[in-house]
Amino acid sequence: MEITGKNFVSVEKSTTSKIDQIDFDNLSFGSVFTDHMLVCNYKNGAWEAPQVVPYGPITLDPSAKIFHYGQSIFEGMKAYKDSNEDVWLFRPLDNHKRLNISAKRLAIPEIPEKFFMEGLKTLLEVDEKWIPKKDGSSLYIRPFIFASGEGFHASPANEYKFMICLAPSGSYFSGKVKVLIEEKYSRSANGGVGYAKAGGNYAGQFYPTQLAVEKGYNQVIWTDDNTHEYIEEAGAMNIFVRINDTLITGPTSDRILDGITRKSIIEIAKDENISVEVRKITVTEVVEAAKNGSLKEMFGAGTAAVISPISTFGYKETDYDLPELTESYASRLKTRITDIQYNRSEDKFGWRYKA
Ligand SMILES: *Cc1c(COP(=O)(O)O)cnc(C)c1O
Repeated sequence: MEITGKNFVSVEKSTTSKIDQIDFDNLSFGSVFTDHMLVCNYKNGAWEAPQVVPYGPITLDPSAKIFHYGQSIFEGMKAYKDSNEDVWLFRPLDNHKRLNISAKRLAIPEIPEKFFMEGLKTLLEVDEKWIPKKDGSSLYIRPFIFASGEGFHASPANEYKFMICLAPSGSYFSGKVKVLIEEKYSRSANGGVGYAKAGGNYAGQFYPTQLAVEKGYNQVIWTDDNTHEYIEEAGAMNIFVRINDTLITGPTSDRILDGITRKSIIEIAKDENISVEVRKITVTEVVEAAKNGSLKEMFGAGTAAVISPISTFGYKETDYDLPELTESYASRLKTRITDIQYNRSEDKFGWRYKA
């Protein structure tokens, strides 16, 4: 065991590597993990120095509050390697800020920027050779914090773990995505935790999504919890609707997560002179637009898939097909954003961050 501690983050290197067993040409999403992980413990009212250690299982007491009260939050981001083998992140400070917004809502202690950024950069340096070079592939980064503190008392834990795991991932080809506009279940509500990346939000989505899958759909379009009349998100992605030549997305709120892909797409679209409206979108107007032919595109936006075009939506027992466009906003915007992420183009917005 070799322990190096040149910086604030200590490093214990793994004596073996799994990298030769990985088929980098056929990577799926988030199912193989690198040789190391970051662990940082919160004890006695403070975060201890982060450690990079060999990847592996961790031990928790059965009474740890994560298991009983779900105090758990996460982030999703990526590292990209350019043709010179330089490594880039995309707006990572925004992920740090959002992790702390989630932390606050779940009564989890906030993680200081230095712990997050130095921890992440050290981990990426140690597992640098795991960052795929293939076009479209990247290293998916999963920072998360959960309550490791013990006891059945329904109150915030007094111990937490902040961890980061890395998963080399291939490009995300979703194929034809058929979605169902939800009329009964809700993902989030006013005053709730929908704007946080809290683990329980996703657990709550699984059952309604299973019901949609049984009906032949891939994903659920979430509507507002009160009237189910406003289109809010697509699965765990933000949603964009193109009616004629205007791109529309809902305003962020308690119920709609403030996606980094979403806000980047809004800025790029404006830069492309595409008319963008950030306003509530009604199910009625989308159905009407589908009927009269003015509905051109719908797509989800999020870090994993970047942009995921929707081919069909279902509503009240009727399916509506979207046209197959040769020049879609979806592909144009995806090219612009990924060119920035992979350092293939100028970054006039200052979003790229050298790892
Ligand atoms: C993570 C997430 C998004 C997308 O956010 P990005 O920062 O673009 O990855 C959108 N909606 C939900 C519910 C999410 O959890």
